[in-house]
This record gives sequence, C-alpha cells and structure tokens, in this order.
Amino acid sequence: MSQPILVVALNLRGRASPQTWELLSVGRRLADASKSPLVAVLAGGGPEAARELVERGADRVLWTDDDRLQELNEELHAQAVLQAAAKENPAAVLLPSNVAGRSLACRLAVKLGAGLAMDVSEIEAAGQVKRGAYSGNLVADVEFQAPVRVLTVTAMLFAPAARQAGRSGEVQELKFAPGPTRTEFKSFQAEEAGEIDLGSAERIVSGGRGVGGKDKFSAIRELAHALGAAVGASRAAVDSGWIPYRHQVGLTGRTVRPKLYVACGISGQIQHLAGMSGANAIVAINTDPECPMMQQATVAVAGDMFELIPLIVAEVKKRKGAAVAA
Ligand SMILES: Cc1cc2nc3c(=O)[nH]c(=O)nc-3n(C[C@H](O)[C@H](O)[C@H](O)COP(=O)(O)OP(=O)(O)OC[C@H]3O[C@@H](n4cnc5c(N)ncnc54)[C@H](O)[C@@H]3O)c2cc1C
Repeated sequence: MSQPILVVALNLRGRASPQTWELLSVGRRLADASKSPLVAVLAGGGPEAARELVERGADRVLWTDDDRLQELNEELHAQAVLQAAAKENPAAVLLPSNVAGRSLACRLAVKLGAGLAMDVSEIEAAGQVKRGAYSGNLVADVEFQAPVRVLTVTAMLFAPAARQAGRSGEVQELKFAPGPTRTEFKSFQAEEAGEIDLGSAERIVSGGRGVGGKDKFSAIRELAHALGAAVGASRAAVDSGWIPYRHQVGLTGRTVRPKLYVACGISGQIQHLAGMSGANAIVAINTDPECPMMQQATVAVAGDMFELIPLIVAEVKKRKGAAVAA
C-alpha cells in the first residue's frame, strides 16, 4: 500500500471545523486513487470526535485531546501533527486554508522538508495542484519535487464528506509529548453574538468607502440582517475605522465564496475582487455605473445605497412575511 494521505483536523475550543469534512472528501478521493489509507490527526478532540472522522471517510484517526491544543498554538499544534507524520510517513498533508491552517502549513513544510502550496483549488491524484496567483488573475499549475506535499485547501470548493453511520476504521490515541515552545496562548476574542462567520457564509453584504462613516454601517447591517447574511467590508472601510478588520474581504483580508455577495459602495479594485470573485452571484449597488464592481456584477444597481437599501429591506421583509403567511 502507498504512503497515506494525512488530514489535519483542528478542534479548537471543542468544536470541529466544518472545513474538516471538506478535507476528508478531498483526502478520500486522493487516497482511493493512490490505493493508500486516509489518516486524520485530530488535535483537540477525543475518541468520540475521532469516530465521526472515521464515519466521514478516515481509515485511521490519531487523536489527542490534550488541553494545550484547545486554543491555537502553532508550535504545539505543529508538534502534534509532526508526531503523527513521523508515525505515518504521509505522501500529502491537507490543512484548511484559514489562519490556523496556513500558519501550521509553513511550519510543517519546513520540518518535513516538503513542498508547500497554499489555497489550492484543484488536486490531481498524480500530485499536481492548481492554485490562484496574482490576485486570482492566473491559475498556476504546481508540481512538486519534494516527496511530501503540504497543501492548504480553499474552503467551500469541495463537497463536505457525508457521515456514514457505522463505518469502521481505527481510532488510536496519539500520546502527545510536546517539546519546549516559545509561544503562549493569552486570550481568545469571540465574534459578537449573532454574527455570521464570513468564511462559511452563503450570503454576504459588504460595505466600502461609499458607506461614508461608522454609524452609517447600520444600513449595511440592516440589509445583512434582512437577508440572513454576514457583514463584509472593503479595506478602505476597515482602514477608516468604521468596522473591525475581521470583516475585511480581499487580498489582505478574507477569501469568501458565498452564493450571494452584495457590494455596496465598493468600487471593485483588484485587491477586493481577489477575495470575492468566486461568489456565485454578485449584486453591486454603486453611484458609478462604470466602476469595476458594476462591470463584474451579475446584477448592477446604479444609485445611492442610502436610497436603495431601505427599499430592498422593505421588499425582503414583505416577501418573508408573505412566505410565512402562505
Ligand atoms: C497590497 C494591497 C492589499 C490590499 N488589500 C485589500 C483587501 O484585502 N481588500 C480591499 O477591499 N482592498 C484592499 N486593498 C485596497 C484596494 O486597492 C482599494 O483601495 C480598496 O478596495 C477600495 O475600497 P472601496 O472600493 O471601498 O473604496 P473606493 O475605491 O473609494 O470606492 C468607493 C465606491 O463607493 C461608491 N459610492 C460612493 N458613495 C456611494 C453611495 N452613496 N451609494 C453607492 N455607492 C457609492 C463610489 O462610486 C465608489 O465606487 C489593498 C491594496 C493594496 C495595495
């Protein structure tokens, strides 16, 4: 049997990341193609969480529920994954393309002497991968010379692995023995109550410089609330201090892939488009019909957002009310 494919499952604060199920479906396909086992290393979860990984496609799960892995500590998490890698000798290590996954991937690639590709959008069984380059303007084909590949996989591109109750596989405890670290976890700041996470949102309403002020962001929030959407922003809005950085979409912010992206007062510079051009449908509301976002949009609405948003909110509420009454 060939070398295994290793999926890194990070359970932070006791919660499995939904992207783990996507990694398992990609991993399963690669493992089947190379007739190798699919192994998951579960950091921060116990045997019950490990069994769910088996039911979602892993052949073997090495779990550790060590308290020190409940919060992200790149050094410790890397040590846990390296311990599993030393045991399994994987051909490829798959991680999520989020802050934690990207940060870990770099450490792992160095320590494993592996080839590294971030934000991968396609993976060929033979080893080649595709990833966006130059703000998504080019798709790069990446080939590896190193025997091991470390890949971070773009979220929401691959279907999550379905749970097959009763599927069997091995579940083993990884006796986590951490070495010294220079990193200490200090605190975790949760998102505001009721806030929808941008990374997994199916609908996003974003505001840009055109919003014109911190207080005026209430219009964006109101539309987001009516649509059940997450709130995003351009860097111009974030840099102006109108909304925290965690809402920023784009090259130096989050990459999102919602079904619907509503861009209000955002001109659509390349660095913003890099983060959201994968949306299924884009609705742009802008006073400038010629700006790039309006050109890129599925539906371009020319006008002042402060006149249009209340009308859209009223219509959405009316239709929701009609749907409830029906
Ligand atoms: C290295 C680098 C990284 C970057 N990373 C990012 C990133 O991650 N994300 C990002 O967004 N940017 C990023 N930028 C900045 C980017 O280049 C743009 O400056 C920024 O996206 C512009 O934001 P904006 O569209 O909100 O502002 P503007 O370009 O100023 O556009 C404002 C828009 O609002 C419209 N408008 C004004 N009033 C109204 C109204 N009442 N109703 C409707 N429309 C109205 C205007 O017509 C205009 O189109 C980066 C830049 C660099 C150099």
